[in-house]
Amino acid sequence: MTPTTPGLHHVTAIAGDPDANADFYVNTLGLRFVKKTVNHDDTGTYHFYFGDERGTPGTNITFFPWTDRGRQGRFGAGQTRDAAYLISPGSVDYWVDRLESRGVGIDRSERFGEPVLRFADPDGIGLELIASEDALEADIRPWGEGPVPTDRQLRGFHSVTLAVDDVGPTAEVLTGVLGYEFQGETGDRRRYRTPEGGPGSVVDLVETDADRGQMGVGTVHHVAYKAADVEEQERWRSAFQDGGLNVTQVIDRKYFRSIYSREPGGVLFEVATTGPGFAVDEDVDELGSSLTLPEWLEDERERIEAQLPAFDGPNVEDGGK
Ligand code: ZN
Repeated sequence: MTPTTPGLHHVTAIAGDPDANADFYVNTLGLRFVKKTVNHDDTGTYHFYFGDERGTPGTNITFFPWTDRGRQGRFGAGQTRDAAYLISPGSVDYWVDRLESRGVGIDRSERFGEPVLRFADPDGIGLELIASEDALEADIRPWGEGPVPTDRQLRGFHSVTLAVDDVGPTAEVLTGVLGYEFQGETGDRRRYRTPEGGPGSVVDLVETDADRGQMGVGTVHHVAYKAADVEEQERWRSAFQDGGLNVTQVIDRKYFRSIYSREPGGVLFEVATTGPGFAVDEDVDELGSSLTLPEWLEDERERIEAQLPAFDGPNVEDGGK
């Protein structure tokens, strides 16, 4: 049985200062801070999750804030250049005004007939807002308490743009392993889409002459695709192996289960289950309000809390709605 081709589940990047990171994603972009936990593999670092009201898979951008003392990354081949969110077609002017009024420089363009606003977050991570009809069918829950009116809020991912030195091998993984289909090209951009289409179904590839990127503050760590359940994830695991790629065992990430495989172009791919989700250890009303730890780290809570950097945000602004 062939698994359903996965759309995007989340994007994880490395930020600098935790306060600046949370303030931007909550107060400028209007995402909800849905989870404050630690990097399971480095418990001295927070792991922040931002998304819609419930942190629905397909809406989450997540960060390891390494603080201002963290090693700066360098963008290059084998990295995600931009993460793009959907906005509704009537919201372009709202977002231009909102971003410009907050000092965010925007590069406006149109791509495959859709308006694109491109900008960077405080650490230089490339972001886009793309106005698309797909926004109208996004299965998300707007955040009623947020600073952005619900009908203007980001509506989950549109796409990611991956920069590689040669699109061929990466395209082969997208189409041959993950079931994506070539959809078209514009300029130096080649677009791949799931057969089902819809929100979060697009991966764009661009070639870059830059050297291999170096992971650090201001770079994207990995891109995660969705698996409906553990059985489907196991089928993707086999598909990576059949494609000749190394893939990890299934790892329990508390809010989902994950496998990881680095594609030949250098981008780290993850396939994560859509469940159990963020309400597994906090009520939906309370998401993000306390430091949550998986049960296997709970015994070390005191030591972990003492080592984490200072962070008391985000303070959600009143949007004046
Ligand atoms: Zn991940």
